[in-house]
Amino acid sequence: MNPWREIADRVFIRRFAFFDQTIGAVVGRERVLVIDTRSTLVQARELLDDLRHVSRLPHVVLNTHAHLDHVLGNAAFRPCEIWGEDGCARFMRDLGLARRADVAAEMPGLADDLLASPVDPPDRTFARERTLDLGDRRVDLRFLGRGHTDHDVLALVPDAGVVFAGDLVEEGAPPSFGDAFPLDWPATLGHLLDLLDAAGEGQVAPGHGEVVDRDFVAAQLGEIAFLAEMARRQWPELRAAGHEPAGQAPEDLVADAARHLGWPAAPVRDALSRGIAQAAGGLGVPTVP
Ligand SMILES: [Zn+2]
Repeated sequence: MNPWREIADRVFIRRFAFFDQTIGAVVGRERVLVIDTRSTLVQARELLDDLRHVSRLPHVVLNTHAHLDHVLGNAAFRPCEIWGEDGCARFMRDLGLARRADVAAEMPGLADDLLASPVDPPDRTFARERTLDLGDRRVDLRFLGRGHTDHDVLALVPDAGVVFAGDLVEEGAPPSFGDAFPLDWPATLGHLLDLLDAAGEGQVAPGHGEVVDRDFVAAQLGEIAFLAEMARRQWPELRAAGHEPAGQAPEDLVADAARHLGWPAAPVRDALSRGIAQAAGGLGVPTVP
């Protein structure tokens, strides 16, 4: 059975139960853009097998960002080109091995596969934006500002009205804030909404979960903006009370925000802790695209 779903002309998604991950494939006349490579070499080989249902053309790969569930299958795709923002390659070089060890410790059942999967950063890097030519159609790779990480790249398929958003948008679960810049994230999603408006109605394929529309993105922007605003507003009072900028957000705030959003505590705790650190100036200067 063909596990792919064609969501627009020659634009496919494949959803995997593992981490509810959504992988993209955009087919051109000369090559196929594969968006993200999954968590291990074993998983990536399964993806390569699946891709034969889509096309036999050569691949070109995009890493939307450096989190291991999006990049640790890279080596299975070599020798093809792998594209990513400069920050993606830097993150993988600086932190990839340590992160791989951390995840292996957290997921003993997957540890052998993880540790057998090389950290293989993108070899084709760019700052801010780049256009890939697939033969008869183009895909625009765009960095719109910090959000889920400091190097999230979207892939726009203009002739199909589809945007692959990586983990800047997440469906089925709250977004993940472990490496996030919560104070910048709403503006970054605002730029994504502008792109969608300029293109007319569009579909947004998230890094995890089902394809969503503009209204979903706008609602998620609102949720993240609520957390960012709470962090920004609370920081002066927390500073006066001796709170460490890098410390964990106070549990009463976490509980309030989690109740308001209807989210579990963990992502709220990460979001507020990172947001407070950012409000305190502890996460570097914002990048303006
Ligand atoms: Zn991620």
